[in-house]
Amino acid sequence: MKQATFRFYAELNDFLPPQKRQVAFSHSFEGRPSVKDLIEALGVPHTEVDLILANGESVDFSYIVQDGDRISVYPVFEAFDITPILRVRPKPLRVVRFVLDTHLGRLAAYLRLLGFDTLYRNDYGDEELARTSREERRILLTRDRGLLKRSMVTHGYCVRETDPRRQVLEVVRHFDLWRQVEPFRRCLRCNGLLEAVAKEEIADRLPPRTRQHYDEFFICRTCGRVYWKGPHVERMTGLVRDILEQVER
Ligand SMILES: [Zn+2]
Repeated sequence: MKQATFRFYAELNDFLPPQKRQVAFSHSFEGRPSVKDLIEALGVPHTEVDLILANGESVDFSYIVQDGDRISVYPVFEAFDITPILRVRPKPLRVVRFVLDTHLGRLAAYLRLLGFDTLYRNDYGDEELARTSREERRILLTRDRGLLKRSMVTHGYCVRETDPRRQVLEVVRHFDLWRQVEPFRRCLRCNGLLEAVAKEEIADRLPPRTRQHYDEFFICRTCGRVYWKGPHVERMTGLVRDILEQVER
């Protein structure tokens, strides 16, 4: 048996059993495993890892762990510039786009409300989620750690919170997105882009009271859903304001 000392930093500790959190611990192994294999065997999805140091030198996922190595593992630093050091992952996505696992429907609606390009269906399979994330360079959000361990997934994040409003805050904070928030840009139902539309164009589709009381309308160019600044939008605006205030704090 060989042994290496591991130390995980920051939120990577969430994936470890309590006795291994925030401390250096010894891990026994056999054969010639890569550092990626050992990190995942310890329960940490590789998509959460941005930087690995072996005996103080940055290494990539394929590094073969040696007997006696000291391995330090750091989380994805989307928000910080550590470019002089080798990163283990591809370049961060320039335009942040998401694809969400089936259990995150309300989070999907909140992200769309804030203007983020967010794919969501309640019947995506794991394989399809992983493939969509890779092919369309979308960050895969899920609470399923097993899904993030698939090697096809290069950009993923395990959402810790369970309440959707706390989830959206967690995501905006984690990826440092608050400067990119653009409310009422996307259709909540289908993720299509919204455009202002003249009242005459859609008047025949409006309930009589709406036609009477509102003048400003938006239409989803993908699914045709019409939005207006009625009480529903007032409520959503309030929610966006709450979210921004919490994020900016
Ligand atoms: Zn739509």
